[in-house]
Amino acid sequence: MEINSEDEGKVLDLVKNSMGGDVEVKGVKGINPLVRVVGVDEDEKDESICEEIWARNFESSYKKEEWMENVKVVGSMKVRNAREKTVLPRVSSRVRGDMIERENVYIGWRRSVVKDYVEVYMCYKCCGYGHSGKECKREAVCHKCGEKRHLRKDCKSEVTRCPNCIRGKQPAEHAVNSKGCPIFEREMVYQVRKTEWSTNEV
Ligand SMILES: [Zn+2]
Ligand SMILES: [Zn+2]
Ligand SMILES: [Zn+2]
Repeated sequence: MEINSEDEGKVLDLVKNSMGGDVEVKGVKGINPLVRVVGVDEDEKDESICEEIWARNFESSYKKEEWMENVKVVGSMKVRNAREKTVLPRVSSRVRGDMIERENVYIGWRRSVVKDYVEVYMCYKCCGYGHSGKECKREAVCHKCGEKRHLRKDCKSEVTRCPNCIRGKQPAEHAVNSKGCPIFEREMVYQVRKTEWSTNEV
């Protein structure tokens, strides 16, 4: 399970934009999982990557049309100081199972690692979950220290405090979106539950 760092936050924005905003999930059947393909050559084009993964790795187990229907790249992000990027395809449960089992796929001349990816959307204004920055009615807070009078880029605080836990009057001496945050973990569990990880198991 991946926790989103600052860079992954940018990926999440990409994903969110490509889906046209928040997705209503209550009462709807599970959404397809995302996988993270790490270490893809930056020159590979997102548009042709799905076909490339199929042709180099799954040609014998999937028909091309079936593969293309079940694998859609929803975002990608350049890795700083490297000529590579991370690509996020949304895939069917079956494809996810097959990709995760292989652990890596060939794209171009590289072997890229495949991992599960859990989406957690955080409001960029207040750091809350379940709504977007556009519809946020709270005051903007600093993502690092949780104070209201400045933004993260202007933060001079030495301490890291979680805005969500400050608001919830809980111990807040941890980074927002960190493993130790109970509010983040609750949101993560919620996102994991609504995703259809596999059709074979359960
Ligand atoms: Zn908000
Ligand atoms: Zn601050
Ligand atoms: Zn917290």
